[in-house]
Amino acid sequence: MVDQYHELNNPDYPIPEDLKSNIAITTLDRVYNWSRARSVWPLMFGLACCAIEMIAAAASRYDQARFGMEVTRPSPRQADLMIVSGTVTKKMVPQIVRLYNQMPEPRYVIAMGACASGGGPFKEGYNVVDGIDKFIPVDVYIPGCPPTPQALIYGFIKLHEKIESQSLLTVPWYKKEGTEAIPVPVLGPDLVDPRQTSLINAQGKIAAQAPVAATEQPAG
Ligand code: SF4
Repeated sequence: MVDQYHELNNPDYPIPEDLKSNIAITTLDRVYNWSRARSVWPLMFGLACCAIEMIAAAASRYDQARFGMEVTRPSPRQADLMIVSGTVTKKMVPQIVRLYNQMPEPRYVIAMGACASGGGPFKEGYNVVDGIDKFIPVDVYIPGCPPTPQALIYGFIKLHEKIESQSLLTVPWYKKEGTEAIPVPVLGPDLVDPRQTSLINAQGKIAAQAPVAATEQPAG
């Protein structure tokens, strides 16, 4: 607290005008964010090869317990962080969105590896989506195939920076209206995102109105 007092009163670092009347909130933000950033509990699941590196990051050599993150939770109700570690198949997306909706706010998502970030080596495969960010919001992307445990830990540090930049005044989970659940995609012959149904319907109408070209019957 002494350092913070000196920092707030240091003439070399004048306080911005818009914060002068808001020192209490700024200090509260620091305490709130400091404690949140150092107790992020990840949801316990993995999707493919990237998950092996995620498990290595939790083991003794890399020891993610240093960040207060050793408590991986098997229940989304008790988790703050979803690490999407691996290839996201169309069959898996509805389950991932459902789990995301079941996590309480504040919640964060890391897309670990090329597959989770954009489809990776399976991009445009018949059964794979081009990145989980088409369905749920992603906070940190980690490149690599697979990313090393060190890269994942760097992603954790970036997530901490994001958490520490948030303010009690603007975070969505304390707003009156709250945050809305994301519609769960429907798995059928192909994956349908309910948020795109109006677009799909509009395209269907355009296609129905378009003149159909007469096809020539083969002779014989
Ligand atoms: S990014 Fe590479 S290592 Fe990770 S799940 Fe995809 S194929 Fe496997």
